[in-house]
Amino acid sequence: MVSLLLTNKIPIMKKINIIILMIFSYSLFAQGQLDTGFENKDIALRYAGFLNCNDTFENNVNGKLYYLPCKNKEELAQKRIEMQIRPEVTEVWEPEPKKVTPGNAFGLPPSDAIILFDGLNLDSWVQESGRPQWDLHDGYMTVKPGAGDLYSKQSFGDCQLHIEFRTPSIIKGEGQGRGNSGIYFMQKMRAKTDDGYEVQVLDSYDNRTYSNGQASSIYKQHIPLANASKKPGEWQSYDIFFQAPLFDVDGRLKRPAYITVVHNGVLVQNHVQIQGQTRFIGYPSYITDEMKEPIMLQDHGDLVSYRNIWIREL
Ligand code: MG
Repeated sequence: MVSLLLTNKIPIMKKINIIILMIFSYSLFAQGQLDTGFENKDIALRYAGFLNCNDTFENNVNGKLYYLPCKNKEELAQKRIEMQIRPEVTEVWEPEPKKVTPGNAFGLPPSDAIILFDGLNLDSWVQESGRPQWDLHDGYMTVKPGAGDLYSKQSFGDCQLHIEFRTPSIIKGEGQGRGNSGIYFMQKMRAKTDDGYEVQVLDSYDNRTYSNGQASSIYKQHIPLANASKKPGEWQSYDIFFQAPLFDVDGRLKRPAYITVVHNGVLVQNHVQIQGQTRFIGYPSYITDEMKEPIMLQDHGDLVSYRNIWIREL
């Protein structure tokens, strides 16, 4: 590679391209190294400089010692997030899930279900500002853009959730801007928006976006196995089986969360491991959490409606 740069046979612009490619490859290599660490402490220290944390700590992997930049794993995770400030970094566009035309059955609540919304009132929900401001219609409710997210009054850990939603029949916007909402598990009220685990709600009928951000994706973590979306304006359902993460007494992750999602009767997420809080910007990571937190319905500014919401605690 170095001899390529020294020879006079290659024009200067091509040499510049080669240098950029080398820097890019090295930074990609370093991303992997930032998981296990560096054998050489000085290199870890140099990366600490890049990350603006000026320290190193030891990482023991199967009895072998590595060095990582920053004073501990938490600080390193935070610095890596700060370095990845562009949302595009975590978009995955391929593969595009194949289309499946779903059947037309909806799930009625079994005898032990907790009814969160039966179309009559919003008594099981609150907003940060207090009483829910979303519009209650005959049998369904609709996001009131700008009013804020809706939180279940009750908190949940492991659960089975059934929810029906409808994106607007009048098509407006594209990509992430068309019929966007979301169902968040374990979302603390008055936390940052990205603190829960989001199953994406989006109009994904003839509306291409990054695959790990389309309807029924685990947002920016898992691409759905199929695109089972119905046309905008039609009612759709999610049946979601959620297993909450476990932390030990010191707040360390003991077992990650897992999730299974059935979209309109089609299995789209098959017991996938949640990698941490779903984030618009930056990579997911776990933060110490309660055993139970509310379910949140997202106000993303689009007129998405919901009905027939019930849940079973597991
Ligand atoms: Mg969303």
